[in-house]
Amino acid sequence: MGSSLAALIASLTRTVPDFPAPGVQFADLSPLFADGHGLRSVIAGLAEASPPAASVDLVAGIDSRGFLLGAGVALHLGTGMLVVRKQGKLPPPVHARSYALEYGEAVLEIPAEGIELAGRRVLIIDDVLATGGTLVAAKALLEEAGAEVVGAAVVLELAGLAGRAKLGTTPLAALITQ
Ligand code: AMP
Repeated sequence: MGSSLAALIASLTRTVPDFPAPGVQFADLSPLFADGHGLRSVIAGLAEASPPAASVDLVAGIDSRGFLLGAGVALHLGTGMLVVRKQGKLPPPVHARSYALEYGEAVLEIPAEGIELAGRRVLIIDDVLATGGTLVAAKALLEEAGAEVVGAAVVLELAGLAGRAKLGTTPLAALITQ
């Protein structure tokens, strides 16, 4: 990844101390998403940093900033898009998994019917990797449905929280690491 993309991301990220809980440095990427050049650049950067289009069948975006980024990456790769949702948003039946966040606990869900996931090669997209709990839960859900997770990509990796190690051998691309 070029240093100019890293500089662009850094310049359009707002760090908010003690949100949503004391001690958390929240990386707010809203200014980056609201900037036309910024949005185009991060989506192109994520698509470039991901496994080649020929080895990805489907992009899975994590609720909710992963939807925004994942749809753009799916358009680049020529795939469809699966939304990995927070609890209670999808009709039953669902695959569900709870996980610990940097600030609390949450549940992710994907449809258990209507989308054939068995044997499909899936790329997971999210905005920020912190403790890694979210990506690991999404990966486990997709694998439970029979998919193969071929990689994950995020805009920002918070390296101090060691999330990358939790992903095991799944390749992870980050456009910027702090
Ligand atoms: P984690 O499961 O700890 O890796 O958290 C990643 C998820 O929570 C992502 O979907 C992020 O949007 C959000 N998140 C967690 N920590 C932060 C943070 N410090 N700044 C921005 N987003 C965060």
